[in-house]
Amino acid sequence: MALTGLQIQKLLPKTNCKECGSTTCLAFAMKLAAKKAELSECPYASDEAKQVLGAASEPPVRTVAIGGAKVGGETVLYRHEKTFVNQPVLAVNLCDTDGGASAEVEKIKGYVLERVGEALTVGAIAVTQQEDNPAKFLALVKEIAAAGLPVIIRAKDEKAAGEAAALVKGAGGVLTGADAGNAEAYAKLAQENGLTLAVCGETADEICAATARIKEGGFNDLLIEPRAKTPAEAFQINSILRRGASNHKPAGYAFLRFIEDGDVYDVMGAATSEVCKYGGVIVFPKFDAAVISSVMALRQNIYTDPQKPIQMEPGVYRIGEPDENSYVFVTTNFSLTYFLVSGEIENTGLSGWLVLPECEGLSVLTAWAAGKFGGDKVAEFIKAQDIYQTQKNKTVIIPGYVAQISGEVQEGLPGWKVMVGSQEAGDFESYAKANGLV
Ligand code: SF4
Repeated sequence: MALTGLQIQKLLPKTNCKECGSTTCLAFAMKLAAKKAELSECPYASDEAKQVLGAASEPPVRTVAIGGAKVGGETVLYRHEKTFVNQPVLAVNLCDTDGGASAEVEKIKGYVLERVGEALTVGAIAVTQQEDNPAKFLALVKEIAAAGLPVIIRAKDEKAAGEAAALVKGAGGVLTGADAGNAEAYAKLAQENGLTLAVCGETADEICAATARIKEGGFNDLLIEPRAKTPAEAFQINSILRRGASNHKPAGYAFLRFIEDGDVYDVMGAATSEVCKYGGVIVFPKFDAAVISSVMALRQNIYTDPQKPIQMEPGVYRIGEPDENSYVFVTTNFSLTYFLVSGEIENTGLSGWLVLPECEGLSVLTAWAAGKFGGDKVAEFIKAQDIYQTQKNKTVIIPGYVAQISGEVQEGLPGWKVMVGSQEAGDFESYAKANGLV
């Protein structure tokens, strides 16, 4: 639970020595409460202060690493309150009953979705044992571990789990299958092999009892795997556990969910629910690029800081191989707008200069309504760029949604021709043809 400034001040030396940069211990305590300072800035902090404030500053959901990614670490229930920080890892399940694992692994490993300047990839592969043939299961684990992605082990029993865990030792994977009956034994396996342990159960009470026992035993790199039978149950138990996490530590772990096979709507429904409601590691029943790419796009949107739109550096961007005879295009520096507009211009085969004035990452109409994309500002920005001096083709094309600023742009750029482009980026090709640009 968060401490107030006054509560924190009681734990400080109260000598007002100023070495932390604050004029008094109380001022420093206020900064700590607002998370604008670190306790380590006070060289005289007692061990008691470190212990109490360390525990108080821990996020309600523990952060664990899955390979190079982190999951958990969340501090709020709703993204509009602050932001969600660690996006869920998307994984794909392979079973020992499936044939052709190596071709699947290559597909999963090689899949990259480029979106808004980010490369989105699958973060792990799960291996599920279905047959009573440990040798076959272990061979599959070994093959997948060699591919370099973290492995999520789902074995039928403790013996197979232990042998599989040893094969992926230290590779940042996950061991599933811990429950109220085997909690200590599985925790030992996970700890010995440097793995995160997923604790399963059908109810929140059952799961929390097991996580509390494991933590008491000294191991705390945990995930929670609620066993829900329906999507409604999954939604409900995730919400109960996450709400409980802020004041009940045994619930304070990220979730792991295996989505069992179903039609595309079942899988999409379950995966989107997990992305929106607290999923930590989401395992798809098979690799389907259409499904996974949609979920990746949703994940990227949900895990963007709502107070900071994803934005490009203001400036001039090249499309193709532009020169002084190319057209000049203008839009805002909202990343999604930039990638859509530049992609559509590229699709026509045109080269050009795409100018992005500083609009704080807002979209065209929002930026215009907020007074950040007025005609005078656009003209001023273009004038400050090198292309203003070097262009022979003095034609600037502004977004169709802000046709009303064309007069002001024209006024600010004497000698230039101002064209009003299409409203939607997707209509640019037909606009370019209709206006003789291509
Ligand atoms: Fe107080 Fe520590 Fe800051 Fe000194 S350094 S003023 S003791 S908080």
